[in-house]
Amino acid sequence: MTADTLQIDIQPTTKSRLQEVDFNNLVFGRNISDHMFIAEYRDGEWQDARIVPYGDLSLSPVTAALHYGQAIFEGMKAYKNEEGEVLLFRPTDNWKRMNHSAERMCMATIPEELFMSGLTELLRLDADWVPSQPGTSLYVRPYMFATDAYLGVRPSDTYYFVIFTCPVGKYYANPPKVKVETQYIRAAEGGVGAAKCAGNYAASLYPTKLAQQQGYDQLIWTDAREHTFVEESGTMNVMFVMDGKLVTPAVNDTILNGITRKSIVEIARHWGMVVEERKVDIKEVIQALKEGRLEAAFGAGTAVVVSPFAVIGYEGIDYELPAVKDDSFVARVSRYLTDIRTGKEEDIFGWTL
Ligand code: PMP
Repeated sequence: MTADTLQIDIQPTTKSRLQEVDFNNLVFGRNISDHMFIAEYRDGEWQDARIVPYGDLSLSPVTAALHYGQAIFEGMKAYKNEEGEVLLFRPTDNWKRMNHSAERMCMATIPEELFMSGLTELLRLDADWVPSQPGTSLYVRPYMFATDAYLGVRPSDTYYFVIFTCPVGKYYANPPKVKVETQYIRAAEGGVGAAKCAGNYAASLYPTKLAQQQGYDQLIWTDAREHTFVEESGTMNVMFVMDGKLVTPAVNDTILNGITRKSIVEIARHWGMVVEERKVDIKEVIQALKEGRLEAAFGAGTAVVVSPFAVIGYEGIDYELPAVKDDSFVARVSRYLTDIRTGKEEDIFGWTL
């Protein structure tokens, strides 16, 4: 599909559900906006691009994605600035990452024009769903899945690409307690850790449930070989402020290349802070914590933005982290990122669209 042939058929809803939403009490993922964008891939091209009222899809029970997991997704947020305009944060990075995931999962890739037009048209139609209260945003979920009604294991020839959105509030009410996982793994070298594929999230549920039964909120994953190098936490990349430097695991094929992480690295460098992207041994972190050299450990991701950890549990011991001070790097970068995303701060990096 090229720019010339891309046509989006728009079928607006006759009954908006906007009035049913309590915008002062938004729960992550509960309220889906009025419309959704759908495009279908068949005969080697994307076609039937359309925006329709949000509703059920009709699928064959044989649908390939349901059996063999060719299913990928993205997550980004839209905000409203003071003029009421809708701002998107680095959406082309999500498009690139979606295609990276698509290639790894042997799926069709999505032309930039299709991704961006679908997204902007959908947001134009559902602009009233973008909340404006502090701490709120419109979460945008683009995803793609294999639709061949064929039971053999092979790459599907047909796909659905769908985008829907939902107004959201804060992800974690309180700073999370995280447990360093040293038995189960999220990803291994050569695997699919760097792809945002559905199976990665399914595989994380059981170990996370076990940690929650022990009183933690989330896991910190470690490497598959030695269970000592920090990888990620839930749907967040992990970062540390240690010895006055920003230290974070380098992205590779076991870690999702987070857009929030990348932005924080760029901001920190812009502020003149030393940034180390490298392997980070959890023992080094615990040692720094014991010696008072660890200022903060935090997760970074679209859903949470920046989420400082309250406690790190490692080998049966819970280590409490210092409270985040208002003038600390974590607090400053969190405010700065939110202000860029909401148009309050000048976007010197050219990130918002
Ligand atoms: N790691 C994983 C496993 C994730 O699911 C996410 C959320 N997309 C992230 C990290 C953070 O990425 P981003 O900052 O692009 O949201």
